[in-house]
Amino acid sequence: MTTNLYDLDFNELTQFIIKLGQPKFRAKQIWEWLYRQYAPDFASMTNLSKSLREKLDTLATLDTSKIAAEQASSDGQTKKILTQLPDGNYIETVLMRYNRRRTLCISSQAGCAMGCVFCATGQMGFFRNLTVGEIVAPVLHFARELAAEGQHVTNIVMMGMGEPLHNYDNTLKAVNRLTDPAGFNLGTRKITISTVGLVPAIRRYADEGRQTPLAISLHAATDTERDKLIPVNKRWPIAELLDACRYYIEKTGRRITFEWALISGENDTVEQAQALGRLVQGMLCHVNLIPLNPTKGYGGGPSSRERVDAFQQTLARYGVSSTVRVRRGVDIQAGCGQLRDRVAPPKPSN
Ligand code: SAH
Ligand code: SF4
Repeated sequence: MTTNLYDLDFNELTQFIIKLGQPKFRAKQIWEWLYRQYAPDFASMTNLSKSLREKLDTLATLDTSKIAAEQASSDGQTKKILTQLPDGNYIETVLMRYNRRRTLCISSQAGCAMGCVFCATGQMGFFRNLTVGEIVAPVLHFARELAAEGQHVTNIVMMGMGEPLHNYDNTLKAVNRLTDPAGFNLGTRKITISTVGLVPAIRRYADEGRQTPLAISLHAATDTERDKLIPVNKRWPIAELLDACRYYIEKTGRRITFEWALISGENDTVEQAQALGRLVQGMLCHVNLIPLNPTKGYGGGPSSRERVDAFQQTLARYGVSSTVRVRRGVDIQAGCGQLRDRVAPPKPSN
């Protein structure tokens, strides 16, 4: 049995090192190799003795995945990788370059159990939770690649495959890992956790008083409409979800973001915009409007420019601020779950 060092926090790594009969300070050296130098393997950890490096090679691993597909958008600003985990599951990671920002969109699960109808990941179903190591490995992969160009990861959004709050513990451990000042040292406010709206988990998150921003995938402002798009709305309807959001704002003093994929003729109507305006009016929040990325398993299409503008203007009348986000990497199927769909076989029925 090998141990994946990316799965260990600093204390666990220290225990692991002590068990190998090594002095404690080796843990700090290794930690820096992993999270400051982005070392790809043990051989490159040159301040460790050769015998320790060889020992680690037999007893431990780092990134256990392999790249199954890689795509760059035609403008070169977006790059997506599909990695295959040792058990055959796939996950996706996207790098988006925008001005000085280098934003990574990372995954928390292989597949997703939430079944949102418009989402490629939802359409494939749930395979399993990712380990902490599996969540952070793609970040280190891109950090290494960017470092070679003198750049670094500036932002992370948990908007790849999976529902982060459905894999709560590992997601938050990964956030801890990536924000550790003695390690990867990303600012706590530079990682956004996006959730479909798991109410008890949102409340738990609020109670922890974390500074890591939260985005809520709302997509509809009435239960009738949201039920059609997002099955978990039947379990936690909009009123309960909004209560949890208000609780989060109260506890943390932080603004919340609502995500809204605009689907032509579906949730892009004036009525939906008005309902949303009434729902979040006066709240410490912001709305991100994103024209839908079409997926194979769903008939809906993106809203027209006019519809998007009208939607935004309606929100403005309620004093609700919003941003229209460009659909980035559409030509490389950078929407979540879309690359795996092209490469991997469908989930076997069981
Ligand atoms: N499970 C989490 C995070 C992953 S999905 C969540 O749902 O929030 C990341 C974002 O992409 C969510 O806002 C989701 O609703 C959105 N999304 C999924 N499929 C999409 C599509 N086809 N077009 C536009 N946005 C989509
Ligand atoms: Fe899961 Fe998010 Fe996709 Fe819904 S939108 S199926 S929660 S990944």
